[in-house]
Amino acid sequence: MDLIDDYQPQQDRTEPCPGTLYIVGTPIGNLGDLSPRAKSILKRVSLIACEDTRRSGQLMKIIESKVPLLSYHKHNFKSRQKQLLELLKNNQSIALISDAGLPGINDPGEELVKAVRTIKHEVICIPGPCAATTALVVSGLACQRFCFEGFLPKKHGDRKHRLKIISEEPRTTIVYESPHHLLKLLKDLSTFCGEERPIQIARELTKRYEESIGSTIGDVIKHFEINKPKGEFTLVIEGKKEKNQEYKISESEALNKLKKLINQGEKSNIAARKVAEETGYEKKWLYSKLHKKLDK
Ligand code: SAM
Repeated sequence: MDLIDDYQPQQDRTEPCPGTLYIVGTPIGNLGDLSPRAKSILKRVSLIACEDTRRSGQLMKIIESKVPLLSYHKHNFKSRQKQLLELLKNNQSIALISDAGLPGINDPGEELVKAVRTIKHEVICIPGPCAATTALVVSGLACQRFCFEGFLPKKHGDRKHRLKIISEEPRTTIVYESPHHLLKLLKDLSTFCGEERPIQIARELTKRYEESIGSTIGDVIKHFEINKPKGEFTLVIEGKKEKNQEYKISESEALNKLKKLINQGEKSNIAARKVAEETGYEKKWLYSKLHKKLDK
C-alpha cells in the first residue's frame, strides 16, 4: 500500500461538525507549530473557549480568526461548563484551547471533555505540541514506558508522598516546574532519588534559546546554582533501576548473542532490540556495553 493512502489528504478548509467539541493543541513557544488544521478549525468554529482571552486574542489576530472567545479557566470552569454544553446541544461547534500546548495536560479541559462525553456529543482532538512528550523524546532517557506527574504538590505531606513515589518509579517520570521553584524541586528530588540519578531538563522548548541540561540531579543543581533558572522547564527523570531482575542468560552470553547477530549482518540497533526482547536486558545497556567492548 502506498504510504500516502494512510493519510487523510490535507484540506485548506476543515469544516467543523455541529455540536462537536474540538480540543486544539497550540504552540508551546514556536508559532510555526500551529498546524494548518488547527488554524482552519480556529477560524471556523462557532466559539473558542480559552484560558486567557487576551493571550489567545493575540494568537487569533495572527491567524485572522474572527471567532468570538470565551474565557474558560480554573476559576470559572463549573459555571462555564453549563453554558458550553447548552451551546453544543444547540449544534454550535466549540474549540477549546489553553495558553499553550494541549488542553487537559495541566491545563483546563479534562472536566469539559468528561461532561461532553456524558451528553454523548463528539470530542475531536486537533493534536499539537505538548511540553511533556517533546521533552521526553529529546531526553535520551527511556521513552517506551513513562509517567507524567505535572506539577508536584506544594503542601509538605502531599509533596513528600509524591516524591517517594517518583523515587521508586521504574519508568521515566516527567515533571513540570516554574523557574522560581526549580532549585527547590531539584534539591527535593536529590533527597529522595539521590544526586546520582540521571535527569535531563528541557528549557524553552521550541523557542530561540531552547536547551537541554542534564546528566545527574547533583550536576544540574550545581548548574542552576550558578545559572539562575529563567524560562520554562520540563524535567525528565530516569526511572529507578530495577534490582534483582532475573535474566534468562548471563551478561556475557547476551553480549555474545548481540555480536553474533551483528556479524550476521544485522544493524546494531535492531540486533540490540532483538536481544533485549529475548533476554530482558535493556536495549540501551546492551548498546553501551557493545560500544565499550568495540572501543577497547
Ligand atoms: N498544556 C501544556 C502542555 O501541553 O505542555 C502545559 C501547561 S502547564 C500550565 C505549563 C508548564 O509546562 C510550564 O510551567 C513548563 O513546566 C511546561 N512547559 C510549557 N512550555 C514549555 C517549553 N516551551 N519548554 C519547557 N517546558 C515548557
